[in-house]
Amino acid sequence: MKRRLLFLGPPGSGKGTIAARISGSDLGIVHVSSGHLLRLEAESGSELGKRIKQYIDNGDLVPNDIVLALMYRWFCDQGPDSKFILDGFPRTILQAKELDSWLEQKDMPLDSAVFFEISQKEVLDRVTGRRICMKCGQTYHVTQFPPKRAGICDVCGSILVQRPDDSLAAMEHRFDVYWRQTAPLVEYYRNKGILFTIDATRPIEERIQILKNHITEK
Ligand code: AMP
Repeated sequence: MKRRLLFLGPPGSGKGTIAARISGSDLGIVHVSSGHLLRLEAESGSELGKRIKQYIDNGDLVPNDIVLALMYRWFCDQGPDSKFILDGFPRTILQAKELDSWLEQKDMPLDSAVFFEISQKEVLDRVTGRRICMKCGQTYHVTQFPPKRAGICDVCGSILVQRPDDSLAAMEHRFDVYWRQTAPLVEYYRNKGILFTIDATRPIEERIQILKNHITEK
């Protein structure tokens, strides 16, 4: 069984959703999201948190030194029996090299780098059509999962809105950052012989099954 994985792919490719589903299954794998750890720090109101929040709100990467310090804190608690999916880390070649050296020191090599492959157009259609109820949090999609009455939540009748970071302009910027800084990691892990590509346009249940098979295969 694979114990140490990372998920790689553009914003909106479903990495976080699927990592959460796999960690909630009986495989005993923990979902570690660098975005979540950074958001926790941002919400703490600390000076560092305030800096982090600016980068996240602008859709830019948080500087390597900050991310590495935060992730190293998590890594120090890991031992040979740890099972994890890293979601959103590493996001630059420098972070990937640093992670390699941490893993090497503990003799815990990565088992798989899963690449969620999807075109920018498909993600934009998916994400920019997303609408959320401000009151109860239910999400909809304007074409794939529309509410019964346009713009109104089926569950509680409140008005549906678009998340600010789902707007077309915000997504285009996040994509730009992804192509420049994160996409080179696909070749990086391909060269290491541990890249596993998954078609991120497939239905979610199908992707989860493919991944579970991948994780449990010998
Ligand atoms: P995510 O939840 O993975 O979409 O991340 C949300 C935001 O957190 C990103 O847009 C970045 O601003 C920041 N972030 C998350 N992971 C990293 C990372 N490994 N390096 C730099 N910034 C990150």
